[in-house]
Amino acid sequence: MNNQLKQNHMKKVIPLFLTVATFVSFAFVIPNTIESKQINVVIDAGHGGSDFGVTSSSANEKQIVAQITEKIKFFNKNEKVTIHLTRTGDQFLSLSDRSALINKIKPDLVLSLHVNQNLNVAKSGMEFYVAKESITKERSNEIAVELRNKFISNTAIKSSEIKYAPFHILKKSEVPAVLVELGYMSNLDDREYLTNDVQQNKIAATILEFISELK
Ligand SMILES: [Zn+2]
Repeated sequence: MNNQLKQNHMKKVIPLFLTVATFVSFAFVIPNTIESKQINVVIDAGHGGSDFGVTSSSANEKQIVAQITEKIKFFNKNEKVTIHLTRTGDQFLSLSDRSALINKIKPDLVLSLHVNQNLNVAKSGMEFYVAKESITKERSNEIAVELRNKFISNTAIKSSEIKYAPFHILKKSEVPAVLVELGYMSNLDDREYLTNDVQQNKIAATILEFISELK
């Protein structure tokens, strides 16, 4: 029975003087019977195992993205959100293993997390990538724009415009997919930010907040 039916039914059987009070109190205790949909998201921590990704003397990409991915999974207390991972530990997973797993899960969204590097050590900030070749290009682009906005309002890190690249995960996923370069290992400020536990918590919380608002 939906809310409206319950309320109509109650109006008939409850004396008028009680109706208002009952209506008001029930407004707080009757859960919304319109089921809000379950949101499934795959977080793809880049690299792993023998593939370290980009490295510096003090940090490496596979570890940073795994730490942030674990925090996303751990901090998620929203029953409407299910976080799936491509790799759950420090193992090597080929790109085709990842896209096969993603297409089996068929999530609402894939976020692939990476760390960048550049010979120009001054280059810094986040970058968001989608693939022109993706069958979900428009939706992926929309999500990338919204996620970028969320990071701009929640964190101090610079964010680039949305970029296009034919990355395997983006091309082969049959669902909306965005690859996020979280910052530059080659830039000192970015590296300190990405390896800082409190900042990693903030990145994870920002991603979770974004996911819970997905429509
Ligand atoms: Zn990478």
